[in-house]
Amino acid sequence: MLVSFGGEMRATAGRVYRNFIGGEWVGPSGGASEVNRNPANTDEVIGEFPLSGENDVEAAVAAAREAYKTWRLVPAPKRGEILFRVAELLVKRKEEYARDMTREMGKVLAETRGDVQEAIDMTYYMAGEGRRLFGQTTPSELPNKFAMSVRQPIGVCGMITPWNFPMAIPSWKMMPALVCGNTVVLKPAEDTPLSSYHLVEAMAEAGMPAGVVNLVGGDGPAAGAPLAQNKNVPVVSFTGSTSTGRIIAEICAPEFKHCSLEMGGKNIILILQDANLDLAVDGAIWGGFGTSGQRCTAASRIAVDKKVYGEFVKRFVERSKKLRVGDGLDASTDMGPVINEQQLHTVMSYVEIGKKEGAKLATGGSRLTGGDWAKGWFHEPTVFVDCDAKMRIAQEEIFGPVVAVMPVEGLEQGIAVANDVPYGLSASVYTRNVNAAFSALRDLYTGIVYVNAPTIGAETHLPFGGTKQTGNGHREAAVAAIDFYTEWKSIYVDYSDKLQRAQID
Ligand code: ADP
Repeated sequence: MLVSFGGEMRATAGRVYRNFIGGEWVGPSGGASEVNRNPANTDEVIGEFPLSGENDVEAAVAAAREAYKTWRLVPAPKRGEILFRVAELLVKRKEEYARDMTREMGKVLAETRGDVQEAIDMTYYMAGEGRRLFGQTTPSELPNKFAMSVRQPIGVCGMITPWNFPMAIPSWKMMPALVCGNTVVLKPAEDTPLSSYHLVEAMAEAGMPAGVVNLVGGDGPAAGAPLAQNKNVPVVSFTGSTSTGRIIAEICAPEFKHCSLEMGGKNIILILQDANLDLAVDGAIWGGFGTSGQRCTAASRIAVDKKVYGEFVKRFVERSKKLRVGDGLDASTDMGPVINEQQLHTVMSYVEIGKKEGAKLATGGSRLTGGDWAKGWFHEPTVFVDCDAKMRIAQEEIFGPVVAVMPVEGLEQGIAVANDVPYGLSASVYTRNVNAAFSALRDLYTGIVYVNAPTIGAETHLPFGGTKQTGNGHREAAVAAIDFYTEWKSIYVDYSDKLQRAQID
């Protein structure tokens, strides 16, 4: 088979993957597929993946709907036991899955191991939640009457996920949904289907009953939109760009679907005059350039107190220049490629925007070509300094290895700058002053705040999500996820054997 790749026709090779519907691996009804390639070396084919359409989504939702009839009645501790077995399989296969993830999306092996580990952590955590799923018992107003509230599953959950955490994000959505008794249809990102296939394969092997988890590959408008639109999908969970999130919200609104949106970020590291600068430089390097800057929590802005600005800039730029860019499977690589050609062009266009706005390009700024970079989507770690907080490079999500550094006059101005963007996911402050740290914790309007650590590194048992245009008020992970994937039912039991006066007043 020949496929078009950047205008050039190339032969495909590699395994052909299918959808997972009702416990069976089945080809897409239209027969269309897409070849996925390694962004570090586009000659390497990862596999051929289905391009599904509305019929496939319909079939997956029907299977999930049927399975829901029995899965909701499986005792939650038993559902949790299956999740525990999934986690055990993920532990066993961590290295294999991490290597495949680096091949399919480029980030370095240490980070893809972290991605699989986040899936493991969430799966163990939600397995344990099967023995909790706490509700409340509370005294009734009346004698001989018992009052309590219990959590109920909701039904089929449609999940639409991005490519930057291809195993962590699907598991952060699926595991809490499943332990609560819901069933799932997952539509993974078109750039990283393989990690979702691994995850779903492990779930099936661990004994997940047929139809409880379904996987439908394909692109956003053709497969994602019909999933969100399907009238038998009452819950939609989405992570991706703010513009797509808005489309999903509009699809969900008329039907009043439960809808959770995790979207963009423009996260900041705030460095105060008394900060440990070694630590701050380290944090800025990994917050800014980890995953090639393609995390929703990436630190793409750094605001530094004027008193230490010069020193910080000198050290940060020096370190940025030393980062080794290359194939993420190579142990000496610090930063891999960006995900695809389109993303590379977005990054390059923001570099031009930064230059035109008058920001000073301190290092980087170009695509890397030739030699080991010849066949991939590589870009230099790029630092703009002396930025103004209102510049587009300091306001808009770039999702690439570009960091905007700006001077600020102390804590108060730093917080004002931090909050003056449309997003509110993560922020961090470097200081040894406890008063300043607590003021920042209180006043930074983001869903996540770090002190003396970069803007990245979420743990599964704390809520994850953001304010303003980052989210729509829901949070992932922790008990917050259990809240999203259940509905409360309040129950009153009267054992007085008479109609009590207050019940008819
Ligand atoms: P990113 O820029 O991170 O790729 P997107 O928002 O484009 O973010 O993609 C995130 C997920 O949303 C992917 O699985 C993608 O296929 C899906 N998606 C994109 N467009 C739509 C759409 N119109 N309807 C439903 N899903 C979509």
